[in-house]
Amino acid sequence: MIPVSEPAVTEADVEAVAKALREGWISGEGPYVEAFERDFASSIGSKHAVAVSNGTAAIDVSMEALDLAPGDEVVMPAFTIISCVQQVVRMGAIPVLVDSSLDDWNMRADQVADVLTSRTRAVLAVHTYGLTADLDTIVAACRPHGIPVVEDAAEAHGLAYKGRACGSIGLAGTFSFYSNKTLTTGEGGIVVTNDDDYAAKLRLLRNLGFNPQQRFVHERLGWNLRMTSLQAALGSSQLQRLDAAVRRKREIGRRYRERLQCIRDISIAPAVTDFTENSYWIVGLVLGDSHPDANTIREELGKKGVGTRPFFCPMHLQPVLRKAGLFEGAVFPVAERLWERGLYLPSGLTITDDDINTVCDHVEEVLR
Ligand SMILES: *Cc1c(COP(=O)(O)O)cnc(C)c1O
Repeated sequence: MIPVSEPAVTEADVEAVAKALREGWISGEGPYVEAFERDFASSIGSKHAVAVSNGTAAIDVSMEALDLAPGDEVVMPAFTIISCVQQVVRMGAIPVLVDSSLDDWNMRADQVADVLTSRTRAVLAVHTYGLTADLDTIVAACRPHGIPVVEDAAEAHGLAYKGRACGSIGLAGTFSFYSNKTLTTGEGGIVVTNDDDYAAKLRLLRNLGFNPQQRFVHERLGWNLRMTSLQAALGSSQLQRLDAAVRRKREIGRRYRERLQCIRDISIAPAVTDFTENSYWIVGLVLGDSHPDANTIREELGKKGVGTRPFFCPMHLQPVLRKAGLFEGAVFPVAERLWERGLYLPSGLTITDDDINTVCDHVEEVLR
């Protein structure tokens, strides 16, 4: 079986974690977490980085720190992961969805202005599958109303929007270090921001609302979302190889494109757009109508030993959100199409060029 993604862990990574262990730095406090935050912030060009236990937690604290009230609205793409929605809904706020583009699978930035209301408190812009959302258009729609933009950059490690690091452009950027992400700490996440007050709030929220002035006296409820020193040691080690990892991802993407280009009636994400150069977090494809749907093709590929994953199931189709009375009658044709007809191929950092060729042989056979 060629797995859809395997983490790339080196001897240097093992040594870095062992060093933290030997020194007894294992909790969420101490020099390893501080060093990782500092190095990650500087790699992005942001002033602050607040490490947390996963990418979903990074979004949760980012939304909580906006102090959303019931009935407030947060704009985001329909085509995304449930992580974007959870804390918004828990705060009684309303996710307002926009559709995605068939060209680059990212949210329709041009539709953001149309859905802003007097209750809009934020836009959560998601950079999807290695390409960026069109942030300038989103920021231009939001700025006159003072609405902050938060970037979900979980899939955008080492990616730039018009030359600026993803995550550094909005009020805040959230990252995931889950095992299939381009930089991994197994589980892990981080929020970057240039805003001092917002950063202080994030630190408070991830650490039980502990008051830096008076320990065990709490002004606000938080969570324990601290990243451990072992994760941070791994993250610092991985960060040193991030540029090389992104280069390899682009090479993987280039090889797939060369082979897949000639298959009729499928679409693959472009290598470049007006805003960015694809970092191929994953190599996906969307099947045209002359092919069976993605589930059928994934099953065929599975029989041949090719691991795949489906694309996101859009938020307006999520049973848990529909049951909560959200998105009644909502239709987002492109998001729905991506869900029905999209899948991604093995594209982790450990895949060999031979494996890519084998995968492409099987894709050709199955789609012939
Ligand atoms: C992976 C991912 C997350 C969630 O990160 P976890 O670390 O798995 O919680 C959030 N948003 C996007 C776009 C992701 O790809």
